[in-house]
Amino acid sequence: MIPFVDLGAQYRVIQPQVEDAVLRVLRSGQYILGPEVEALEDELASFAGVPYCVTCASGTDALVIALMAKGVGVGDAIFTTPFTFMASAEAIALVGATPVFVDIDGRSFNMDPAKLHLAVDKCRAAGALEPKGIIPVDLFGLPADYSAIHAVAEHFGLFVIADAAQSFGARIGNRPGTSLSEVACTSFFPAKPLGCYGDGGAVFTSDAELDSLFRSIRVHGQGSDRYEHVRLGITGRLDAIQAAILRIKLAAFERELEDRQRIAAEYNIRIADAGLELVTPFIPEGMRSAWAQYSLLAANAAAREAVRTRLGENGVPTAIYYPKPLHLQHAFADLGHKEGDFPVSEEVGSRIFSLPMHPYLASETIAHIVDSMRG
Ligand SMILES: *Cc1c(COP(=O)(O)O)cnc(C)c1O
Repeated sequence: MIPFVDLGAQYRVIQPQVEDAVLRVLRSGQYILGPEVEALEDELASFAGVPYCVTCASGTDALVIALMAKGVGVGDAIFTTPFTFMASAEAIALVGATPVFVDIDGRSFNMDPAKLHLAVDKCRAAGALEPKGIIPVDLFGLPADYSAIHAVAEHFGLFVIADAAQSFGARIGNRPGTSLSEVACTSFFPAKPLGCYGDGGAVFTSDAELDSLFRSIRVHGQGSDRYEHVRLGITGRLDAIQAAILRIKLAAFERELEDRQRIAAEYNIRIADAGLELVTPFIPEGMRSAWAQYSLLAANAAAREAVRTRLGENGVPTAIYYPKPLHLQHAFADLGHKEGDFPVSEEVGSRIFSLPMHPYLASETIAHIVDSMRG
């Protein structure tokens, strides 16, 4: 089997620097937060195009910290899509609020801003929950439609926390996606575009007050002194070893992002040339995806199974993100949703699949993958 994400190939390129960096941390005696983490936060903030970055223990913690800082709790409605990883909606429920799902656009797989407007209206009319904020998700690395989403947010007085777990490095025009909303959250899980060698995440903002709230919440609601707690928080710190590794990887990241653009373009061309009945990814004019995934739509579920079988027989792994949308997950049964509630998410979930995608994918391998899809 060829690897779906080849972390080994990346490691071979950066091995001496990573091993030096890890040894440096081991010998320093400072294992959680400290100078490596502070240096990383400065470097990440600059890459993300914002003044403030607070690293944390995972992308999920980043979302939880952001929601806690915004004072979200019981009785609040936070709008997100059902076609995403569990954490986007889980973080909302973990702070006691209610995830209100908004269906996706069938081409970008991101939140449909027109449906968002309708959902907020409906929620206000129902009166049971107070609309507070929106968590758009940049699925597969493609930024959500922020200009339209921010217009809805302003209209209703809602905040926007971008779930940029899959899209660190993405751009709209020449602006980093992480700089467009009041808050953006990302993940450094190993398989994300910028991954560490364990769990990690970060919250980005241009607001100094939010920055200090994030820092306090990250460490049990710490006040001005270690054993003074002015609010509730979590154990959300990043390890120094992960920070040191991320600093090495961040230095190579822009080159990797460019390689991902080239690889996605090569997939697009080869798939078009092969005349396969597959819909290739839609990237709106002026956007740069971070290409966390390269995902295709088959004509239907049976056609998807046929092409995945052919790929598997040729040693090519595939993945399905996401086979079961969140509104149909048992964990959210309390929300009372049923099949048919979010038809675009359900249909896309029945037709989508992802091909191997990482910056070290060779041209010959791409050719082999596309050849393997032919009937
Ligand atoms: C990975 C992911 C998260 C959570 O990140 P972790 O670091 O795994 O906690 C949140 N949202 C989306 C869309 C993700 O893909």
